[in-house]
This record gives sequence, structure tokens and C-alpha cells, in this order.
Amino acid sequence: MTSLPKASVTANGGIQVELGNTRFDLDPRGASRADYTFVSHAHIDHMHNPSRNERVIASVETTDLALARGYDLGKTMADADDVELYDSGHILGSRAIKIADEVYYTGDASGRERAFLGKCTTRRARILVMETTYGLPDYIFPQPAKLVRDVNSLISESFDRGRPIVLMGYPLGKAQLLSYYFSSWEPLYYHQSVALMNGVHVDHGVKLKPGRTFDPEKDVDKLPHGPWVMVSPMSSGRSRLMAQLKKKYGAILVSFSGWAVKSGYRHSMGADYSFPLSDHCDYQELLKLVEGVSPEVVYTVHGFAAEFAGDLRQMGFSARPLSSYQSSLSDYVRGD
Ligand SMILES: [Zn+2]
Repeated sequence: MTSLPKASVTANGGIQVELGNTRFDLDPRGASRADYTFVSHAHIDHMHNPSRNERVIASVETTDLALARGYDLGKTMADADDVELYDSGHILGSRAIKIADEVYYTGDASGRERAFLGKCTTRRARILVMETTYGLPDYIFPQPAKLVRDVNSLISESFDRGRPIVLMGYPLGKAQLLSYYFSSWEPLYYHQSVALMNGVHVDHGVKLKPGRTFDPEKDVDKLPHGPWVMVSPMSSGRSRLMAQLKKKYGAILVSFSGWAVKSGYRHSMGADYSFPLSDHCDYQELLKLVEGVSPEVVYTVHGFAAEFAGDLRQMGFSARPLSSYQSSLSDYVRGD
């Protein structure tokens, strides 16, 4: 039992937690006047430019990645009174936060180890606030080892046919996994936005092989004819750059996303192939996460939040999507 008061949780452009007289803003979208701000990781939809007086809790990796993306989080702290951070397994530096024994907030989370990334740590708390991007039972992801084997055979076949291949994923997170998994192929190009994020990873001790940086403004005509591999941000096969790479070099386009579980995804992206590699929990891993935290109350955010909360209620949990409270600042949802 904690001697601290019970927390309340609300959502309004981020997630607010009140514990006694202390207020926390978790992943706010704008400058905050809370006692503490928490930035779970350096994806753009979880970051903001803090005001000068904000006390920002974030890992040192998140702080550095944010700066490289133009978000100055200032002098961040990795802990505070009643606060503990845990690896959420999503991308380099991503953290879940535990506030007393009351609230565990996952941010974005992955439930499996991939290359240099671990999986989301769980700790018991009374209230769990969790992401539910893939909160439908259809979303079950294959083991990374199988996916890596399949992609290596695809690259091998393309090289046999003298065709280059472009591996596409979000420039922070997915692109570094692709850079890690498929670095044995030569020549290896990194799109400059990927190279920038790779650099921060290397600074933090992640062993990513150096490659040649590709500047889409200057280098489109300078690539060799014949096979190569490029790691590039996710882009539609119909975008100007990808259309050029296809036309000029016969490049094969491969996209990586959890949404690739659905057969229509590849076509919608204009890609030649797609693979379900994700930095989020699949449905089973979301359930395991709930089991690990063993909460009395679950709030779901992102993606299939209403559906997953519905499934949890059927299992006997008190669960609801937090997004339904976004319109009401004063509607403090008691967790008990
Ligand atoms: Zn994210």
C-alpha cells in the first residue's frame, strides 16, 4: 500500500496525471505548466518544444534524438520523486514511466526483442495507461528472425537479377533496425534522414555499419546501375523519388510496417513487397503487457483503443479508451 493519494488520469493533447499536489503531463503536444513533463520517446507525435521553466523527464537518448530532429528538450532529468522510468522497447531511448505505485504509462511499446532493442518492461501499478495501436486480434506479427530470412532471400534474388532494392521504414526506429539487419549487403546507401538518426545511434553505442549517404536532392543521377541496397524513409511508391529510382534503376520497393499484416497494405503503398515488421506490441503482446502490470484500471490510447478496451472489459478488467475524454479539461476520471 502506498501512503500517497490516489492518482487521477485525463487526456487533453497529451495525458495528465495528478498525484496529490503534483501534476504530470505525459507526452504533451505543447508547452506545459505541469510540475513535470514526460517525453516518452523522440517520435514527432510524442514531442513538443518545452517552455524554459519546464522540468522535462526523458532519457538521454531521447534528448539527443529530439535535438537532432529540431526539438530542444533542454536539460532533461531521468528520474524525479515518486517516478521511475523503464525501457518500453519501442525505439532507442523510449521509456515507460511509473508514478508511485499508481500509474504505469507505456508510451509506445514493443513486446519483443529486436536486434539492439529490448522489450517493454512491466511493473505492477493500479492504473495502466497503454498504447493500443494494433489492438485487434488480427494483428499478430511474425518472429523477426523469420522475417529477416525472408527479406535476405528477396535481396539475394534481386541481386541475382542485377536489380537494386529500397527498404523503407520510419526514419527513426524502423530504419535503424533495417540498417542493422541488412548491413551485410554492398553497396549500402542510407537516405540522409536515416543517416542522421543512425549517427545518433552510433553515438550511443549501437553498432550500425557505416554506409554511403544518399542526398535525394543531389544524388538521384549518381547511383550505380546494378544491385545495391538503400534504407529509406517510408514513402509511397508513387512519390517522385521512388518513381525515379524505379524508372532509372529498376529499383524494387519494399515497405516495412505492422499494417502489412493486412493484404491491401502493399498495394496502398505502391510497394513491390511489404513485411510486417513493427516497433509496437501485437495483440498478444498487448494482453501480456496488461498481465505484467496487473492493474485495477486500464486506459487505452491510440489505434484500436475502444476495441481493445472492450476486449479487456470482457475479461473482467475495468477498461476504457482515454481519447473519449479529450474534449473535457475538467473531467477528471477517477481511477477508482
Ligand atoms: Zn512512436
